[in-house]
Amino acid sequence: MTTWRPGDTLVPRYIAHDDSVSQAFPTRVIEASERVLALHLPDGTAIKSLPNVPAEERASSLATMAPASEQPKLDRQWDNDSIRLHFRGEPFSIWLLFGPGWKFNWWYGNLETPYVETPIGIDTRDHALDVAARPDGRWWWKDEEEFEERLKLGFDSAAHQAAVRAAGNEVIRRLEGHEYPFASGWPDWRPERDLPPPTLPET
Ligand SMILES: [Mg+2]
Repeated sequence: MTTWRPGDTLVPRYIAHDDSVSQAFPTRVIEASERVLALHLPDGTAIKSLPNVPAEERASSLATMAPASEQPKLDRQWDNDSIRLHFRGEPFSIWLLFGPGWKFNWWYGNLETPYVETPIGIDTRDHALDVAARPDGRWWWKDEEEFEERLKLGFDSAAHQAAVRAAGNEVIRRLEGHEYPFASGWPDWRPERDLPPPTLPET
């Protein structure tokens, strides 16, 4: 097991269906403890990612989309401060997304496989369906249309999707029950000092 310390650069990567990397971004470790692996993805960080498909086009473009390995990995700039909370063995991560001036805008329950450690960070696989919530606790499912299309096209099995839905329901249960990390000081977290954004290791 890797020992991460606050301030370390840690790279989460999202791995696509065909085992290629769809997204890699450098983050700075805030807390690495038994309860949470908390990461800061600063505004202005240079990341690598597949071309972004607008949310409203995702479901309809699924059938004709080239495999991830055949799409270019683009250099992009992350455009908001985010905190990403990962939990060992859990099939989701929970993000906090901030606007300019560190205005807390959203909770985001990203449904994904439990992370595995790598020499540079962690790897996980995204499940398309997500749960988003306002700071006041109002929540909704996100990307349901894309999720349904994946079932129709045979990308996902019904059993897999039932497990993903259950993971989302667990996020909602914690949110409504004011359980960690929701009832916590995370929306008030701020970096102790201004540092340049972390950078991806040379590969
Ligand atoms: Mg997602």
